[in-house]
Amino acid sequence: MRYAILGDIHSNNEALRAVLADVERVGADRILCLGDIVGYGAEPGECIREIYTRRIDSVLGNHDSAVVGHTPLDWFNDYARAAVVWTAGRLSGEEKKYLSSLPLTGEYEGFTIVHSSLAAPAEWNYVTGIIEAMRCFECLTAPLCFVGHSHMPVIFRESGGITRHMEKAIRIEKNAHYIVNVGSVGQPRDGDPRAGYGLYDAGQMSVELRRVSYDVRKASAAIIAAGLPEFLALRLEKGY
Ligand code: ZN
Repeated sequence: MRYAILGDIHSNNEALRAVLADVERVGADRILCLGDIVGYGAEPGECIREIYTRRIDSVLGNHDSAVVGHTPLDWFNDYARAAVVWTAGRLSGEEKKYLSSLPLTGEYEGFTIVHSSLAAPAEWNYVTGIIEAMRCFECLTAPLCFVGHSHMPVIFRESGGITRHMEKAIRIEKNAHYIVNVGSVGQPRDGDPRAGYGLYDAGQMSVELRRVSYDVRKASAAIIAAGLPEFLALRLEKGY
């Protein structure tokens, strides 16, 4: 069984469509979403429809939660807050109902998915360093966990101690546990503007972190045209 695991789409339908086309090319039996379908970008409804109509399971992200009023706005910086307010004003009741229905975690064949961290998932902690990874590993019962939230692809391996890896492909060893951040579809922050997602092959026991080029200009132009903060368009072009 091969899983495509993607998240932090952030209303960037250009990036989402490019990633889904890449998934189709390389082949996956199932697609899962790590949340933050909306926020920042100009096409929230389009992204929700894509996830919903393709029956892609998704967990809840902090932006999804804020748009439906479940995470307070003071959690966010000015740009993010402006986008949350803009998004909330554009979504239909049905679309908001869908976002409200998303669970915080998901359990699959030997792995768990969560937007932020398994340590208090509704508190939206980032797993960027060893300490945060340790807290997440403490709550992990499966051998493997996929996370998003920081928009930075990274892999943590736990086997006695915890190590941090930047490789684009790894083999899952039987005696170790892993936390894999698959990066972001719609707003990468590692200096590479291409959309990011992960492929997990449960048979081969391998994870690959993939990058896909898309029409960044079109997505950033849509952000400007929508009247969203210009910074949100600029950061897409630079990938930060
Ligand atoms: Zn995000």
